Parts: sequence; structure tokens; C-alpha cells
Amino acid sequence: MSQKIWLSSPHMGGNELKYINEAFAENWVAPLGPNVNGFEEDLEKFLGKNTKIAALSAGTAALHLALIQCGVQYGDEVICQSMTFSASANPIAYCGANPVFIDSEPETWNMCPVALRNAIEDRIRNGKKPKAIIVVHLYGMPAKMDEIVSIAKEFDIELIEDAAEALGSTYKGQACGTFGRFGILSFNGNKIITTSGGGALVCHSQEDKDKIVFLSTQARDNAPHYQHSHIGFNYRMSNIVAGIGRGQMEVLKNRVEARRSMHDFYVDLFKNIDGVTVFSEPSSDFYSNHWLSAIIVDPSVTGKTREELRLAFLEDNIESRPLWKPMHLQPIFENAPYYGTNVSGKLFDDGLCLPSGSNLTEEEKERIAKVISNFFSN
Ligand SMILES: *Cc1c(COP(=O)(O)O)cnc(C)c1O
Repeated sequence: MSQKIWLSSPHMGGNELKYINEAFAENWVAPLGPNVNGFEEDLEKFLGKNTKIAALSAGTAALHLALIQCGVQYGDEVICQSMTFSASANPIAYCGANPVFIDSEPETWNMCPVALRNAIEDRIRNGKKPKAIIVVHLYGMPAKMDEIVSIAKEFDIELIEDAAEALGSTYKGQACGTFGRFGILSFNGNKIITTSGGGALVCHSQEDKDKIVFLSTQARDNAPHYQHSHIGFNYRMSNIVAGIGRGQMEVLKNRVEARRSMHDFYVDLFKNIDGVTVFSEPSSDFYSNHWLSAIIVDPSVTGKTREELRLAFLEDNIESRPLWKPMHLQPIFENAPYYGTNVSGKLFDDGLCLPSGSNLTEEEKERIAKVISNFFSN
């Protein structure tokens, strides 16, 4: 069997071990230390816009704390993009709140502004104004932020961006993750840069950041003994893990370039195959890191399904994956309200994510190209 080609695998830059060794040398083996501070500064510099970063144990943890800081409580409603990874929606349940799911629009596959407005107006008519909106930049593609931000402002609802997949992406030149009151990032093993596992919360005030760090380190009040007036969490990033992050930040720009060139590779491969569309930026306002390249296979044109293509890849030990199955179609959320016209359901039916790593070799790309050309030529 030929070697496995992964959808997206970790790609170290080289200096990660240097930062980890420093942590060991100085015995900063704890959820605080120079790497945590250094990684936060690197991210602040990269994102700009006077951001304040809190490095945390996971993107999911960041979203949980963002919801808490936005005042989300038991019984509240929180609006969430339906087409996403479950980690966008689970923290709503952690708060005892209820998700309201919004369909995608076909251009960016992200939250549809029309469905968002309908949902907010309908929830308000039903007597409950949503407490927050979670918009996602799927596969690195920026959502239609002008429209989303203006609706959030109009109705005075807190906006949280799930930018877990979108570090390095921009909308009209502004970094994804910096538009809302909070943005979350993930450094899980499959993301564009990784710390093996980890996340961050993008804040815009020192006050918010301080509160998040306080909550993430067990909410200890300022006293010589252990004194608590809040429920705390153990969500801070460790100084070892942050050392990996500092090494990865040195190569982030290269990683974005490499992922974008994978997208170009697929555009080229599919340009003569009718019925296959490569997921691409709708205009120059959108700059995607192309974390994952994805395609839509129209079976009425190609005579083949995305599932058949997935199995063809699998036969050559190449990983590919259907798009995220929308949350409103998941058993766990089947009773949650949903607003839209099933754009996301159709994307799920016909969409496939393709190997997109920044570390794919020319040989591996040739294997991928061969499977595709064989599959569509017979
Ligand atoms: C990866 C991911 C998360 C969760 O991040 P973790 O660091 O794995 O907790 C949340 N949302 C989206 C869209 C993701 O892709």
C-alpha cells in the first residue's frame, strides 16, 4: 500500500524545539511563562487592530469563555452558523443555552445574512432576543462580514467569530477574527498552524483579556488563600505548547502561501472537468488562507458522486472528506430552530474536502492528480 496522504497534517517550522528547550531550561513547565506571553504577542502583531490575545487550551474553550463574557446564561438563545464543526455549537450547550441555526449562502458557504435577519426578527417576535451570534469562516473563507457586522449592530447583539480555520485570512484587508467582540482561533493538529492542541481568544480590550485569563485559571480572587467569587475553568495554554506556537508563527506566512497554492493546484486540475467547481473567493474583498481546498461535484453533469470520488481516493490511501454536516441535520440538535433554504444541506450532499496540507510533495500531488484524472475519464 502506498503511503497515506492526509487531508491536513502538522507541518513544523524548525524552531519549535528551541522554544520548548528554553522552557525546560528555565523550568517554565506550567500554564504560564515567557512562551505564553511571546505567543500572544506574536498573534497580536499578526492580527493587528489593537488586538489582545488570551492563549487557551483549545478553540472550543475560547468559544465557551467568549459566550460567558458575552453574558450568555441558562435558557438564552445563541445564533450559530449551521454548516460548521460541532465545536462551534457545543459551547452554547455548555452554557445551558439553546442554539438557533442559520443556513449558508452559496458564495462563501458561511452564514447567510438574509436568513440571519429573518431569524433575529422571528426570535424577537417569539419574545426572545438572541444573546450572541457565532459566525464561522469555513475552510478559511471569510464570511460576508459587512452584512453580518451591520445586522449585529442594528439589533445590538454580540458578535463572536469562529476563526478556528481562518488564521491568515482577511476580509477587505482586515484579519478574520478581529471583527466581532471576540474571535476564536484553534491550533489543533489539523489546522493551518498547530501547537498539537490549543486555542486563543481574540479580545479588543485589556479588561476583556484580563477577565478571560482570570476565568481560564480557576477564577482565583486576589487573596493569599484560595478565594473564589466566580466559577472558574482550567483553560489556559501551557508554556510548552506555546513554545510550539512561537515556532509556528515564524512560518505562518509560508503556510498560507502553500495552502493557497494547493487551491491553485486544484483549480488547474479541474479546469477541464465539467460539473466540478473548486471552492473559490467570490471577489477580491475575500482573501482565504484556503486551509482546506474543497470541491462541489454535480452528479447530474459528471454522472458521478462525491462519495464515489472519496472511495476512489481511499483506494489509493488518500484521505478526503465530505464537507461539515450542518448542525441542524445532526441528531443532537434536531430540535433546535433553523432558518434557511437548505443551501448547506445541498453543499453537504455534493461537497468534498481534498488533501490540502502545506507539506504535500510533488510526488503526492501527482498521485492525487492521477486519481482524479482516472476517476473522471472513465
Ligand atoms: C477546529 C475547530 C474548532 C475547535 O477548535 P479546538 O481547538 O479543536 O477546540 C472550532 N470551530 C471550528 C470551525 C473548527 O474547525
